[in-house]
Amino acid sequence: MGRTIGIDLGTTNSCIAFSDGGHPTVIQSKSGSRVMPSVVAFSAKGERLVGLVARRQAITNPKNTVNSIKRLMGRRFAEVAKHVDDVSYEIVENSNGDAAVRIMDRVYTPPEISAIILQQLKLTAEEFLGEEVTDAVITVPAYFNEVQRQATKAAGKIAGFKVRRVLNEPTAAALAFIEPDGRKKLVVYDFGGGTFDVSVLQVIDGVFEVKATLGDTDLGGDDLDTKLVHWIMSEFKSETGIDLTQDSIAPQRVREAAERAKCELSMTMETDINLPFIATGESGPVHLEITITRKLFEELASELIKKTIPLCKAAVEDADMKIEDIDHVVLVGGSTRIPMVQKLVEEFFQRKPAQSVNPDEVVALGAAMEGSVLTGQRKDLVLIDVTPLTLGVETLGGVMAPIIQRNSPVPTRNSRIFTTASDNQSVVGVHVAQGERDIIDGNRSLGTFELRGIASAKRGEPRIEVVFEIDASGILSVSARDTTTGQEQSIKVNPSGGLSGSDIERLRREAAANADADKIRMKFVALRNEADEVIYRASKSLKIAREELDKESWEELDNENKNLKAIRDGEDALALEKAIDTVRNLNSSVSKLVEVFESDEDGATSEFLSSFEKIEEGESKE
Ligand code: AMP
Repeated sequence: MGRTIGIDLGTTNSCIAFSDGGHPTVIQSKSGSRVMPSVVAFSAKGERLVGLVARRQAITNPKNTVNSIKRLMGRRFAEVAKHVDDVSYEIVENSNGDAAVRIMDRVYTPPEISAIILQQLKLTAEEFLGEEVTDAVITVPAYFNEVQRQATKAAGKIAGFKVRRVLNEPTAAALAFIEPDGRKKLVVYDFGGGTFDVSVLQVIDGVFEVKATLGDTDLGGDDLDTKLVHWIMSEFKSETGIDLTQDSIAPQRVREAAERAKCELSMTMETDINLPFIATGESGPVHLEITITRKLFEELASELIKKTIPLCKAAVEDADMKIEDIDHVVLVGGSTRIPMVQKLVEEFFQRKPAQSVNPDEVVALGAAMEGSVLTGQRKDLVLIDVTPLTLGVETLGGVMAPIIQRNSPVPTRNSRIFTTASDNQSVVGVHVAQGERDIIDGNRSLGTFELRGIASAKRGEPRIEVVFEIDASGILSVSARDTTTGQEQSIKVNPSGGLSGSDIERLRREAAANADADKIRMKFVALRNEADEVIYRASKSLKIAREELDKESWEELDNENKNLKAIRDGEDALALEKAIDTVRNLNSSVSKLVEVFESDEDGATSEFLSSFEKIEEGESKE
């Protein structure tokens, strides 16, 4: 088996490393660069430019230069629409609703653009190592959902790699940072160009276990640049009356200068921006000259930077740890060079972050180490990652039945038994969703499929086993099997669905805010399911026991059953509970009396798979 290289496919920069005898080294380009800008450009002649050359010509060719493509990976257009104005190229909606990029009349999917970056990295690695490189471990933010992971894997495949593993960036950083022996608890705080991630890990004698992970895939250094760009442009407008946003080249120049200023302000207390001939006014060319202090930058950026701290707090809590338990804090990503970021992290964790790692390289080094684990060079390390969100299926009444809980170690497999909601139902719909709400509508749908050919049986009798399996790269497969007939259907999660990081955060917040409303809805769902069950049994008794029962008892049960049907969909929970009890009690004495209804409580489960529109109803449904 050949080498497996490690690739940190970053929003702003990418880095590659290889491992020799289990010790990772960064791969340099021919010109000696250790990182490559994640930029792709298309020249007027149709040439593709990648990396530094693409970045250098961005100002003169802004519409055909694509940066930060990682922010579009696996995303719906609607999710990224707010970033459309932050970039100089055109973001469009694909026919399936996904975000894509239009360059000179050709539409590229984000994996295609990422693949161009990966191809260049492959070439660099092959030049450096003097051999063909086919296998790779590619890193992603821990908070990437299934779809974003699939998109990354697809990019790797397009670039000609066999993607051995899609590895979480913080896990990679921990692998590279920490000596595997002994017991340690560490936090990896990863603030890059486009995303923020925080992970809490425990290392015990070579076993790296991610205990919790949280993040925001819509928060990064690019957003800090945007804050500066808006401020610079509005200052310029108030001084000169000229609106630079309408110009075709000026916004790109301002953005470049803003990013440079931001980076300089990590080292100095103030910096100047000089952009000659940025516009033409009534009396000729106008130049942009402005001084930005660190204090001003911090004022503009603090709201965004502070958003990372509650996520750190929640991640430590999710890991069942206390701040005092943490032995090391590792900073990853270019934005952690900002002094204000370092100060806030130090204040929160009450310890100085580790200074020994290069935040631009540590992830690629860790990915290369994982490569050496996969190729058997290193046998002393084991990685246990977690899935960031709960995965489950829809059950009757629109309720989410969790199958794999968030923060479960992966790879993982879990199953639950469900049943049918109608007699002789031969098809069930399996609706897979991801999120933390009890109500399915509040979560993000990942895909649906049908299981057909269920053996003819009374409602509640079939045992349908739904199995969720997440592989080591975090990719989900779902299958459903009728345990009687052995009929089985399965899906891999649909690559056009899935959650964005901002969705995840929104869902988290909504889940907390809507917890009470959800509880009430859940209560009604449970009551209505119970009512259906009781109505069904009573109707059956009434049909079978008509002759044996005295008229009065029969009519009493019939009337109460009708009353229960009438109030089933109402909003009076107490009345519903009372009516359910009345019918259940009457029916239980009737069934005892005439022995009409043997209990079918020994059926598989009282969890009914949902998706009513897909259910075929049997003839005997009342
Ligand atoms: P990454 O995604 O890890 O490559 O991080 C890239 C982000 O880090 C970009 O937004 C850069 O502008 C930012 N960055 C890099 N160096 C610095 C620095 N010295 N100070 C502030 N931000 C930086």
